[in-house]
Amino acid sequence: MIHLISDLHLTPADNALLVRFRAYLKRLNPGDSLFILGDLFEYWLGDDACEYLEQNQVEQALTELADQGISTSFMRGNRDFLIGKDFAERCGITLLDDEHLLQLGDQPILLMHGDSLCTDDRSHQVFRKMVRDRVWQEDFLSRPLSIRDEMAKAVRYRSESGKTLKASAIMDVTQTAVDEVMRLHGVELLIHGHTHRPAVHQFSLPGSASVHRVVLGDWGQAPSFIQLDQHALELVHAGISDRLVI
Ligand code: MN
Repeated sequence: MIHLISDLHLTPADNALLVRFRAYLKRLNPGDSLFILGDLFEYWLGDDACEYLEQNQVEQALTELADQGISTSFMRGNRDFLIGKDFAERCGITLLDDEHLLQLGDQPILLMHGDSLCTDDRSHQVFRKMVRDRVWQEDFLSRPLSIRDEMAKAVRYRSESGKTLKASAIMDVTQTAVDEVMRLHGVELLIHGHTHRPAVHQFSLPGSASVHRVVLGDWGQAPSFIQLDQHALELVHAGISDRLVI
């Protein structure tokens, strides 16, 4: 079985979240695969900051998965885009590119975090371009942890205060960006998170058959996850399940 989650936003300030995450992981079986599609952490200051951020228990939980024969793949989100090779090696997880094709039988499924699809959110796209730059990242990671923390806090404060002002539609994906990336990869199924709007969307791409976009939810109140095998996809959010035959 393949499992997908995103947007847990784990933080030591919310221990219930960690308990929820650990309980969820217990459901997985040896031989299963877990895909984390970004924003596992509320924020990340670099792989050398795991202890500073009090996220050792999460690192431990991921390491235990590897020990149990559950392969874990991780895609960076807009909160934990600084997750790097050191952290991945320590936990035995595989880092994925921002647009990853998961091959399921003869069907390719496109996995993304989803923030790059919110093209109406111009200020986020400008920010994203800046912080995804290698030179910017090297400079940031070379600074002392306390300075990195101050910089990240300033950004989070700005983005939180901006969120209340931004129209809700701006925070969602744009259909043109979805159409474009699905056509580019030639897929009929896209799975992403980020928007915290769990749903199964059906639509048609110009000139082709009906396709699906499945959105994972956040973990603020309850686990939100997808279970997938060669026959069907099941999205579970707040205890409600949506099934899609694929
Ligand atoms: Mn996100």
